[in-house]
Amino acid sequence: DQPRPLAERPAEEVDAFLATAQESYDALRSAGLTLDLTRGKPAPAQLDLSARLLDLPEGHTSRDGVDTRNYGGLEGLPELREMFAELLGLEPDQLVAGGNASLVMMREVLVNLVLHGGVDSERPWGQEEKVTFICPVPGYDRHFTLLDWLGIETVTVEMHEDGPDVEEVARLAAADPSIKGMWLVPTYANPTGSVVTQEVAERLASMPTAAPDFKIFWDNAYALHHLTTAEAKSADIVSLASAAGHPHRPVVFASTSKITFAGAGVAFLGGSVETVRWYLAHLGKGSIGPDKVNHLRHVQFFGTAQGVRNHMARHREIIAPKFAEVDRVLEERLGGLEVASWTRPAGGYFVSLDVLDGTASRVIALAKQAGVALTPAGSAFPGSHDPRDRNIRLAPTFPQPAEVTAAMEAVATCVRLAAAEKLVADRA
Ligand code: PMP
Repeated sequence: DQPRPLAERPAEEVDAFLATAQESYDALRSAGLTLDLTRGKPAPAQLDLSARLLDLPEGHTSRDGVDTRNYGGLEGLPELREMFAELLGLEPDQLVAGGNASLVMMREVLVNLVLHGGVDSERPWGQEEKVTFICPVPGYDRHFTLLDWLGIETVTVEMHEDGPDVEEVARLAAADPSIKGMWLVPTYANPTGSVVTQEVAERLASMPTAAPDFKIFWDNAYALHHLTTAEAKSADIVSLASAAGHPHRPVVFASTSKITFAGAGVAFLGGSVETVRWYLAHLGKGSIGPDKVNHLRHVQFFGTAQGVRNHMARHREIIAPKFAEVDRVLEERLGGLEVASWTRPAGGYFVSLDVLDGTASRVIALAKQAGVALTPAGSAFPGSHDPRDRNIRLAPTFPQPAEVTAAMEAVATCVRLAAAEKLVADRA
């Protein structure tokens, strides 16, 4: 039977709830835990799925007879680009295979835009009085610190279940020529798990923008990372933008960081053929070619695009139970109290937990004192500022299953205590 919402209970009951919550928390602290739910890293068991990569490649010659050990082939090995073009819904000549980190590619693209402008820019962004990016929130902290590092301003819009608040995005982008672009994790967003629908993608691709060189940084880091068998298909943003007359608007990013090895995978950049050419022209100033040996071993390891999909199903078997456990514990300990809501993602690496306004930093501090590391308060917002101090990002993939249970029990204990404290304090 569901407990009654905490806020609807009489004062004595809330006082009693607070006393019990405090006792549970004291017990938790004396248990001396050391647990970490901070970063979305694959667990060792997931890395082990790709162990065979360490014995590859067999030989060193590509399909076209290229010696992969040598310089050259800036755009990446064709057979790997073909495989991932199929998976990402692009043409091979719309895709570059690069180093191990798509985040580096995002930084490169931004730096190129600031120093040189894009294929459709009137001037380098660095010569604009001001450059602003639209940031759906909660979002990925490293996107925001990258903007901050470059002196790019931010304006936030809410992330909904079907993607960003597209009305607000369209209104902002139409009104202000300093708004040069936006971040978007279209499939299984970090941290909400939202999936951008076809309708939202169409609107983003076609909306009029005051800046002629508006860019959508379409960071599809979790495109293939399904937690259920109902596999969401990402909208084809490059075709949509092209059909709408804005072919150079999207820049697509993806990587195998959470497919093979987070530290030794392959990153991809996609977009119009002109965007790809533009990227490579700048890349060529600092590189004579990528790690094609790594490209070749990825090709041999997967065999085909279907090989990648099959591999992702094995990841799912390892991590889906951890996400189910997060939901089970939260439901069991917090269900009906109306002191928290959380996402039930169908893919990706995160659960987004919203607690009572003004209590997220308290929950995170309480958890820290009990030995449970959570992502710092506000980190899913530009400037680490969560205006409602309510959002907590949970990353359950790395810990062992038993650790996920213990960590979530601890989180629930802290949420209960912080909520009761707040209700009592608000009464005063
Ligand atoms: N984008 C998003 C949305 C992410 O969550 C992450 C990993 N935390 C990255 C990019 C980083 O990707 P990569 O390892 O390819 O740099």
